[in-house]
Amino acid sequence: MKKLKVALIGNPNVGKTTLFNRLCGVNQKTGNYPGVTVDKKQGNFTHLSHSIDVIDLPGFDSIYPKSLDEELVVDFLKENSGNSDVDKLLFIADGTNIKKNLYLLSQIKDLGYDIVLAINMMDVAKRKGILIDKEAIAEEFGVHVVKISARKGQGVDELKSAILLESPEMKTDKLIYLKPENHGVLMNYVKECVSENPYKAFLNITQENRIPEINVKKWKTEEAILRYQYVRKIIDKTIKIDKSLASDATTRIDRILLHKVFGYVIFMFVLLVIFQSVFSLSAYPMDLIDQFFSWLSGTLSSTLPPGSFSDLITQGLIPGIGGVIIFVPQIVILFLFFALLDESGYMNRIIFLMDRLMQKVGMSGKSVIPLISSFACAVPAIMATRTIENKRERLITIMVAPLLTCSARLPVYTILIGLLVPDQFYYGISLQALVLLAMYLLGIFTSAIAALVFKYIIKNKYKSFFITEMPSYLVPSFKNVMLTIWENTKSFVWSAGKIIVAASIILYVLATNGGEKFDKAETHIMTEFAQLPDSKKDAMVSTYQLENSYLGNLGKTIEPAIIPLGYDWKIGIALISSIAAREVFVGTMAIIYNIDSDEEMKITQRLDSEINANTGERTFNFATCISLLLFYAFSLQCMSTIAVTYKETKSFKWTSVQFLYMTILAYVVSLIAYQMLS
Ligand code: GDP
Repeated sequence: MKKLKVALIGNPNVGKTTLFNRLCGVNQKTGNYPGVTVDKKQGNFTHLSHSIDVIDLPGFDSIYPKSLDEELVVDFLKENSGNSDVDKLLFIADGTNIKKNLYLLSQIKDLGYDIVLAINMMDVAKRKGILIDKEAIAEEFGVHVVKISARKGQGVDELKSAILLESPEMKTDKLIYLKPENHGVLMNYVKECVSENPYKAFLNITQENRIPEINVKKWKTEEAILRYQYVRKIIDKTIKIDKSLASDATTRIDRILLHKVFGYVIFMFVLLVIFQSVFSLSAYPMDLIDQFFSWLSGTLSSTLPPGSFSDLITQGLIPGIGGVIIFVPQIVILFLFFALLDESGYMNRIIFLMDRLMQKVGMSGKSVIPLISSFACAVPAIMATRTIENKRERLITIMVAPLLTCSARLPVYTILIGLLVPDQFYYGISLQALVLLAMYLLGIFTSAIAALVFKYIIKNKYKSFFITEMPSYLVPSFKNVMLTIWENTKSFVWSAGKIIVAASIILYVLATNGGEKFDKAETHIMTEFAQLPDSKKDAMVSTYQLENSYLGNLGKTIEPAIIPLGYDWKIGIALISSIAAREVFVGTMAIIYNIDSDEEMKITQRLDSEINANTGERTFNFATCISLLLFYAFSLQCMSTIAVTYKETKSFKWTSVQFLYMTILAYVVSLIAYQMLS
């Protein structure tokens, strides 16, 4: 009987143990490798009058060992390369996930081994519709290939026979992983140490760093890149997925979720649920947070000794922090959904569905989720672009995200639409709601146009990788979901928080300080309007103070620039103060137009009756309202977004580009609108 010795190798979890048991049955014994505690399993089987000894080596991922197990295998392979101790290697690959396996196979093949490749898990691969051209793989790698299912015992006899066959020649150049210039250095070295196998020499050089003139790290990286490209090419040629042949649960679900019509309908429905939840579930906690912070500043202002420090805390700092914290519920809910989508595997389907559409405007399917989050807030949206590997697509997504209608625009839109459109219904449809919808559509439309423009501006020097392999559906892990929420919320509170707090303090200081007129506000009102009731006078004092504060002066300074848009200095103040955050507009309006709580006048009524000092007409006439709506739709009035864009792009240039293009766009569009309408 002829004797033969084979070693079983492969990445972890490919079914090595299962195959070993299949081959050797009870003919196996376990020992230890000398000096280490790693199991050494050996067995034997007979086939066609051959007695075949099998050594089962530990699973490993790379020829550059990172653990004791791996080191043991690599040492074994290097020692035996070209040596007659083992006649063949039996390499096991996982047919459902073969990329990593072929990478390792190509490395081991280069060590000069005679290899039989067993592609395992074919039962699962078949159900997933994965088609593997084994002849082509055999030819590329110069190995015999057998498809098996170790668990079911299919193909194992064929595998046994293949072990007895002579190996075919490998087609490709063995030194494919080396650049020609390195090749020369290596060959000199190989000659010197009279090693027969160049790849072994390569490994020794890169491991022991014996030649000072070469950069070991660079060599290794180069090898990895070239080899990966090589394996990728082979995979593209030899492996196809035919979904129509698949029959596993994931595939059956995908037939519906990726359906040409239902897929999109379901996606829209999922979006609707997320959208609704973000707004409706967050309303109550946001109210609570709002109440808490007003309670806090109320309590503090009555307990702290009165003075400007106390005012700064209670009217500047606390509302500022409150303004950040109030977004936490929305962010938590949003990231809860994202984590669920991601963990379950549905996110990949969304990316797949939307990819073609998004490619047209220079983005990819991966931009969809960040863009959708922009409807809540651009800050988490820009954070969520981290999942986009392609730098250009990511940059475009960041650039256009703030154009979508975020929730901070809602209070501004609500007030302006209230002034603009009568509260009437036509056929059960609210006119105001229609205009609001139009504002949302405007945001979507503009962001698509802006993306197109950026597509032509930003050079495409990055390759886009598109996933064709869909992960199986899984029940999300609670821990991972909680972690995603926690990480993102923390990141938002810190990065946006710092800026908003700083900005609100600055604004507060500017609004509560001024020159001589500011300081004498009280005396001025008391003498000029002595006959008015006290409550009225108090309100007038604060209006007069604001008018003469530094902030008021700023508003007057920019007035010439905004008159063509139909605004006056009071709106100018609101524009400046809402650079911190758009929703500040409403608060500022309330202060500037001095809402008198005694008269129970709603802010819209008050604004409605306001007269523009420059024109003598109603301040909030049709043209001005439209102009303001457009201004808030396009301008980047949000410190947090600016901060997050800088944090994520690490580029002063792109942060400025974003701010400038949006501001200029807002100005030009509002200008045109006002000039045409007035
Ligand atoms: P090892 O880590 O490479 O030794 O892999 P194992 O032999 O422990 O197998 C890993 C997992 O894959 C186990 O749950 C096996 O039952 C399973 N497995 C192995 N071969 C097959 C197969 O051909 N088909 C299927 N469906 N599962 C397999």
